[in-house]
Amino acid sequence: MKTLHLKIFGVVQGVGFRPYVSVLAAECGVKGSVANKGSYVEVFAQGARAAEFAERVPKEIPPRAVVLRTLVRTVEREPYPDFAIIESEHEVGDIFVSPDIGVCEDCKRELFDPADRRYLHPFINCTQCGPRLTILKAMPYDRERTVMDAFPMCPRCRKEYTSPENRRYDAQPVCCNDCGPTVYLLSPDGDRLAEGADAIRRTRRILMDGGVAAVKGIGGFHLCCDARSERAVRHLRERKRRPVKPFAVMMPDLETARKYCAVPPEAEAWLTGWQKPILLLKKNADCGVCGLVAPGNDRLGVMLPYAPLQLLLFGYPDGLDMTDCLVMTSGNASGAPICRSDADAVAEIGSYCDVILSHDREILIRADDTVTDLRGGKPYMIRRSRGWAPLPVMLSESADKTVLAIGGELKNTFCIAGNDLYYLSAYVGDMADVRTQNALRETVGRLQTLLEMKPGVVVCDTHPLYQTVEIAKELGLPVRQVQHHWAHILSCMAENDRLDEVIGVSFDGTGYGGDGTIWGGEIMACTVHGYRRLGHISPFAQPGGDASSREGWRIALSMLDDAFENADAIADRLGLDAKQLGVIRAMKKAGVNCVTSTSCGRLFDAVSAVLGVRRASTFEGEAATALQTAAERAGTGPRLVVRCEDCRIDTADLFGEIVRRRLDGEDAGRLAYAFHDALADGIAAACVQAREKTGLRAAALSGGVFQNTLLVELTREKLEKERFDVLLHSQVPPNDGGLALGQALYGMMND
Ligand code: ZN
Ligand code: ZN
Ligand code: FE
Repeated sequence: MKTLHLKIFGVVQGVGFRPYVSVLAAECGVKGSVANKGSYVEVFAQGARAAEFAERVPKEIPPRAVVLRTLVRTVEREPYPDFAIIESEHEVGDIFVSPDIGVCEDCKRELFDPADRRYLHPFINCTQCGPRLTILKAMPYDRERTVMDAFPMCPRCRKEYTSPENRRYDAQPVCCNDCGPTVYLLSPDGDRLAEGADAIRRTRRILMDGGVAAVKGIGGFHLCCDARSERAVRHLRERKRRPVKPFAVMMPDLETARKYCAVPPEAEAWLTGWQKPILLLKKNADCGVCGLVAPGNDRLGVMLPYAPLQLLLFGYPDGLDMTDCLVMTSGNASGAPICRSDADAVAEIGSYCDVILSHDREILIRADDTVTDLRGGKPYMIRRSRGWAPLPVMLSESADKTVLAIGGELKNTFCIAGNDLYYLSAYVGDMADVRTQNALRETVGRLQTLLEMKPGVVVCDTHPLYQTVEIAKELGLPVRQVQHHWAHILSCMAENDRLDEVIGVSFDGTGYGGDGTIWGGEIMACTVHGYRRLGHISPFAQPGGDASSREGWRIALSMLDDAFENADAIADRLGLDAKQLGVIRAMKKAGVNCVTSTSCGRLFDAVSAVLGVRRASTFEGEAATALQTAAERAGTGPRLVVRCEDCRIDTADLFGEIVRRRLDGEDAGRLAYAFHDALADGIAAACVQAREKTGLRAAALSGGVFQNTLLVELTREKLEKERFDVLLHSQVPPNDGGLALGQALYGMMND
């Protein structure tokens, strides 16, 4: 009998997909079957309305499902007696692992309903919500292949789990107060202090007394304190030795978020949706969150609760007048990966906190919170992790191989690509710390197992000193190396599924150039097979090696020395330490500890320093972010002319002009804005010249500098006015967190 055979690829496991297909089949009078095949859902359909059914299946999907591709063909089969849901069969192939899903509204309602049997159950979940990636041992997604196999279901849970009409049907982590994991409270040394309700109530009291708690979430621990209490936040900053880098906060709901921040309409869906990222929102004036949470920053990283335990921290019915804003920062030692076990927490963050609120549901894969800005109503990713990883990026062209791209040295994520699907990992971190290096090794292995993919080649950066290059070489696979700034552009091309040649604007912090210098302000012509460096910003001497990436004043002095005869006097007037000029001149003259650089990130640091916005940074990007904030506050500035010849943007001249105007008394904020605007002019001019040279009409913007949404918007407007097709990032970060995608594309398209 004529039968339609469907293969549906995407997040179709653990989201109630099979029961949904079965309901739709009944509605269409279709007979046949539906089965999880690990990599996809397979459907056979017979009947007069089979074609209509096949049309509707991939469209009218359950809320959490993501369908990436549906293949339909006609086959001959014996007539089916009915429509059957077939138990999981295991097949090797392209595997879709679901990201973790924040607690849904139905579960939230039950959590606070005294009549419900899961009243106040810290692990409540259903088919539509709950942990996924972080609790998976192997695919397909079934209970015995998750860490929940340690918690046998009680009869009532099993009944819900096996009843197709129940909203917990097929929900692998389903559990209740009788059979689920246990929450408990530990001292910073790991001594057990309390359990269950008592543990939660005591944590709430400690938080309201100004204490710091480590709280186990979905993808790792958070460090948590009352964001309204200056004493608590200062305490956490001192202990974590993190003087100014902003902390993210969690608020119980959208209404509270509105109280503290401006929530534009397009932000609401992202704030409340199932992925629950940290969203950067503009603070309201005198909003009540203490200034130490995000010092000098007009914006606040806000997320809503996604784990039931987090909801209980805000809303436990114990009569305590609880804060409605908690600092929720990653629970890790500086530079190390986020803690995921009690042993990690005691060893690494025990000294930062007063108590550890933990539980015995294991976290197998770390997933830090995703951090995103919004641009044009869509996410503009800064850190892509929980809720997104490991959703693949799908490309229209492919090669028949499996590639591992190991990623960059900072903000590391890696990517495993097979055919047309590119799976980006959750955030791993900065490779300076040996614990992060080990986390990368371990997570690469785990994700390969989950996806059942065996890479035949590994791709990494060209930097001779990168740990990631060492780790790539350890694997015993053929190693391919790809230039850093080209990989950024390849990442942007991949995200936009644009694989023809483009003009690449790769503006970045640090990266190994193709010629022994540091690059990062590059105009390139890029294909998937090669690149040409067409131009760049003005080169400058970067004295002090790596130290200069935190010390913008060094670059500023070096550039002042290039631009002015009387650099000493000018440095003095700008409040910079002119005495250091001698040392810098000596370094430059001897060529010792001093490299030539076209890093636009460092140019931002230098401008920030001469304008007195930030002379040094305590974390990567601090000075540049502060410069953006100053520019946004001013909102306008004088129009500065920037010269551009042969794709070379004369930023040295622009720098000199900014210094002269500053000395003439122009406002620093207005000059910060003018710098952004002029740089965008320079980029547009360079792209026009690149187009004249190459005929290319598309320009891709990538690299860490393009985290700066003011620069992105100014540049996009100017390029569109010049009728360029502008390729921007959205769900993949422009910074090194997106680098692996570009590396993977290179590995896929080249031998
Ligand atoms: Zn739910
Ligand atoms: Zn149960
Ligand atoms: Fe980079």
